[in-house]
Parts: sequence; structure tokens; C-alpha cells
Amino acid sequence: MKNAAMGVSPQRLARLAMEMSPVLADWFDAHGRDLPWRRTRDPYAVWVSEIMLQQTRVETVIPYYHAWLERFSDVAALARATDDEVLKVWEGLGYYRRALNLARAARLIVAAHGGRVPEDHAALLALPGVGAYTAGAVASFACNQPRPAVDGNVKRVLARLLLVNGSLSGPAAARHLAESARALIPLGRARSFNQGLMELGALICRNPPRCPDCPVRSFCEAARQGVQAEIPVREKRPAVTPLSVAAGVLVEDGKILVQKRPAMGLMPGLWEFPGGKLEPGETTGQALAREFSEELDLAISVGRKIAVIRHAYTRFSVTLHAFFCRLVPPGQDPRPTAADEIRWVRPGELSSLAFPAADVELIRLLAERGVEPD
Ligand code: SF4
Repeated sequence: MKNAAMGVSPQRLARLAMEMSPVLADWFDAHGRDLPWRRTRDPYAVWVSEIMLQQTRVETVIPYYHAWLERFSDVAALARATDDEVLKVWEGLGYYRRALNLARAARLIVAAHGGRVPEDHAALLALPGVGAYTAGAVASFACNQPRPAVDGNVKRVLARLLLVNGSLSGPAAARHLAESARALIPLGRARSFNQGLMELGALICRNPPRCPDCPVRSFCEAARQGVQAEIPVREKRPAVTPLSVAAGVLVEDGKILVQKRPAMGLMPGLWEFPGGKLEPGETTGQALAREFSEELDLAISVGRKIAVIRHAYTRFSVTLHAFFCRLVPPGQDPRPTAADEIRWVRPGELSSLAFPAADVELIRLLAERGVEPD
């Protein structure tokens, strides 16, 4: 393979911008998928869609996007919402910090920009949860500004088109690809070109690439050299850690104790049933008794098993063992040391709070089977 490494000459980029980029922009205008966020030029809606689409499939995002805009129709509506309300609409979409950052950013936009999403790139970048990709996507998709928007799909496409055959992770590669992407934007057509690069990566320049269907094949250096299957170099995926977790449905006077996860860390601000990871050699019952004692200063007895629920998160595969529990003796007051907040709620109120996916399944089972510990 001829090694072009990171050095793509400015002359070559300029030639591609003249000859290839308009072809890709035309292809997107004619063949791009009709997705809800492509029917709008509203920077708020585009921003919401781009945050939702991070690490998440288009089909998964579509119903959440509609529900979100129905509930929070503009920046001001989002800024007025509590974190609990925001997380409830986001429930099931994962990476919950994204939702909290959207709400924080909305409050900042109301305070500093009169409630209008800023079109200025630096102001966009200053918003919580907005990085170079999202700022470029909002600026170019909504406002047609000539800003690059380089996500994982675009990195792969550019690496093949330009024959970049080193690792694509790390700041040097990100800078190089963003500079190349910016140089390729055809005059006045940032919106169609940037979305064209993304669409090409999503539909055609995948693994393996469908080069015979590619609208810019005649410009692609990797295809010319027949090395597209080797580019980009594969990065090691982080291992998925299996976790065994015990959760206790503590029932007292017809109410259930739930706790709110801390604002920092995994699944921030979500509600959950008390419990935690099993220590080596521990039974689920021992783990529950220890967790209730350590984190709530409560003594409990562990009763009937409710269910074993398995759920795959990105980095973890969780096996959740859920049990009914009772206070022994009754009438103790919880004193939380790890949760941000605790609440005693009636079973019917559980669905008004936002929980992680495994707990949502547990709530569904409780609704189906009833809350009868004995
Ligand atoms: S020719 Fe093949 S490898 Fe090159 S950009 Fe098109 S789909 Fe990707």
C-alpha cells in the first residue's frame, strides 16, 4: 500500500473540493434519507437530534426526537424543565449525561443568548456537552456555515477517500481530518456536503464498503489502490464487563423506597431501587443486607425473589437479581450516604420517575404481578 499517511497535499484537497465535493453534495440532495431532523433548519431541533444521535441508532432516536420536541418545543421550555422531567423523556436512550447537559446548556442559552441557540461557532463550543463535531453539525446543517462535522462515519470515509492509513484516534488525527474536511467543503454547500459525507458513511462506505454503489468512487484513493478493506486500521474495542447486581424492592406501608443516583458518575440523576454489586463470595441476600446497611443505615430481611433481569449497557452486561425486602424491625428511617435523594413512592408513581433500563423492566414486572412481598 502506498503510504499517504496524514499528508494530503493542499493542491489535492483543492482539486477534490472542486471536482468531488459537488458530486457528493448533489448525491445527498437527491438520495439522502428523509429523516425528521433534516426537514428543519431550526438550530435547536438540529442540536437536539445531534446529541441524541451520539452513539445511538437513527431508528432508536426518531421516537425520542418527536417526544422531546413535543415536550420541550424550544430552548425556553427546556430551560424551565427540572432534571427529573428531562431524564424521564430521555429514559431508555442511555448516556444520560447528554440529557442533563442539554438542559444545562438551554438554561445557559436563556441567560446569555436570549433563548436563541447561538450560531457563532465559539459560542456553540462553550455550551455543555457540545464538542467540535456537534458545533460543526449545528453550524453547517442548520445555518450552512462552512464548518467541518467529523464523526466516526465521516472519519472512515475521509480515511478511505484520502488514504489515511494510521490510527484515527487521538487529537492529531482528529485535527488532520477536520482540516481536510473543512478544505473539501464546496462554496455555499456545507449543509449538503457535510450530510453527504455522513450519509455515505452510514449507507455505503461501511464495513465492508459497497464501492460499486459509491457516488465518489472515481475520486477514492483507497479504492484506486484496492485497499479499502484495510482502512481505517481497526481499533480495539473496550471489553464489556459482566456485573452481578442485587436490587431490593423495600415495601413499607404500601410504599416502595427508591433513591436517586449522584449527579456525577454513571447514569447521573436516575432513580433506582437500592442495592449494588455483589462482592466476591457474597450471595445476593448478603449483598442486599450489606448495601442497605452501608448506604441507607437500614436493617432488612430479604424475601421473595421477583426476577433475574439481564441488560447490556455499552461497557457492562448486568445481571440484576431483584428481591422483595422488609425493614426488620419496621419503622426505621433511612439515612442515605450514597444517594442524592430518597423517596417513598406508591407503586403507581414509579412510572413517573426516570430509571435505568433494567429497573424499568423490573417496574413493568411489578405492575404486571403486583407488589406483595410475602
Ligand atoms: S469508493 Fe468505496 S471505500 Fe471509497 S469512499 Fe466510496 S465506498 Fe468508501
